[in-house]
Amino acid sequence: MPPSELISPNMHGLRVVTTPDYYHRQVRETPDSELVNLAEFIPSIILDIRYATAANLLGRPLYQAPKAFLRRPAAAALRAVQEELATVGIGLKVFDAYRPYSATVAFYDHVRDETYAAPPWRGSRHNRGCAVDVTLVSLSTGEELVMPTDFDDLTPAAHADFSEVPALAQLNRAVLRAVMSRHCFEQYPGEWWHFDHKCWENQDLMDLEFADLQA
Ligand SMILES: [Zn+2]
Repeated sequence: MPPSELISPNMHGLRVVTTPDYYHRQVRETPDSELVNLAEFIPSIILDIRYATAANLLGRPLYQAPKAFLRRPAAAALRAVQEELATVGIGLKVFDAYRPYSATVAFYDHVRDETYAAPPWRGSRHNRGCAVDVTLVSLSTGEELVMPTDFDDLTPAAHADFSEVPALAQLNRAVLRAVMSRHCFEQYPGEWWHFDHKCWENQDLMDLEFADLQA
């Protein structure tokens, strides 16, 4: 079953997986398309899923549960990142990973700026389960390392190459970028926290709730 071949395009011309049956059939035929639960797959990782709370730009929860999923190759790469960071007493905190397409549509309707939100006619690599929003934490305290901005700060200071930030924040941002890039994650220029794993090209856009991902 080639990806998306059987799916009718939506109003924006995109083929989006919207039925659990289709997804579970894909996983049986292509195990790499499985969306892996990060809390189970990387037990030491810290989750701070802002879209499951009202503490996000929309001021209301978009998700029913504070969970994070990535396609299997991206999850494996993130686990390797966590293992590498642990050797120097650092870990990852995840703000967001797989994001249902409808959440991207709601987010774009609010932000209306393609620099900070994927438009409905393109979809996001989060919708493909291959993008993750992360920062660094101290493994001993769980405290976030200082970065140029908070997550989802939609200002130029969030740009990956913004230079007018304190030296320590620049250093931490560089460490994050270096370790993520060693494991095939590419940083998005508009947001220091956003990384795309190279597997996105092979994965469909999806609009399933987290609960629908369980077999
Ligand atoms: Zn992101």
